[in-house]
Amino acid sequence: MNRVFGWLKTAGYALALSTSFEILYYLINLRAPKSSVNREPEVDVIFFPDQKQACDAYFSYGCTNKSCWLSHEETSSMKVKQFIEKTRRSLDICVYCIASQTMVDSVLEAHSQGVLVRVVTDQAQASEHSAMVEKLRSSGIEVRTNNSTFFMHHKFVISDNTQVMTGSFNWSRNAMLGNDENITFIRGEGQITQRYIDEFEKLWNNYSPELKS
Ligand SMILES: [Zn+2]
Repeated sequence: MNRVFGWLKTAGYALALSTSFEILYYLINLRAPKSSVNREPEVDVIFFPDQKQACDAYFSYGCTNKSCWLSHEETSSMKVKQFIEKTRRSLDICVYCIASQTMVDSVLEAHSQGVLVRVVTDQAQASEHSAMVEKLRSSGIEVRTNNSTFFMHHKFVISDNTQVMTGSFNWSRNAMLGNDENITFIRGEGQITQRYIDEFEKLWNNYSPELKS
């Protein structure tokens, strides 16, 4: 009988010891800096419409117009443009409707700085706003479209394979200044970003001109 008690006692100690190790391990992990790859992504959200268009003068050299009706505060449209213009290496754009000159200007600016730009958009929208697509293509940016009666309806952009903006926002004046829209920014090299990268690669390959007959 005593031997049974002895075993139970030993088992009890072992359990208590392993539990304390687990608690200790948990506490150490709480304090340990996590690697950037596994870190939770940073997330931010913005909404549209902007109440006013941003005052370019104010944000470049200063606005001297006392009765200026444009916005002297950062607008949501500006945040989208900054996302594009802060890109350093690659910009993968997958947006249903590209009809905004100001957004296209930001893309052309990034492209002129040596950023590798790829664009996927909807076939019907590209025909409707052919001037914008033409601007991109004539500057050397490859634009691919779907070949289907269904829509290429995404609205996401990947910057440097590390940041994603995604939501309901089309690149149009109505989306900027009229519609109720949202964009979520996801920053980080985690699984979510990787899934957007994979989706872009899938569409880019599916809409390859060689596959169209
Ligand atoms: Zn102004």
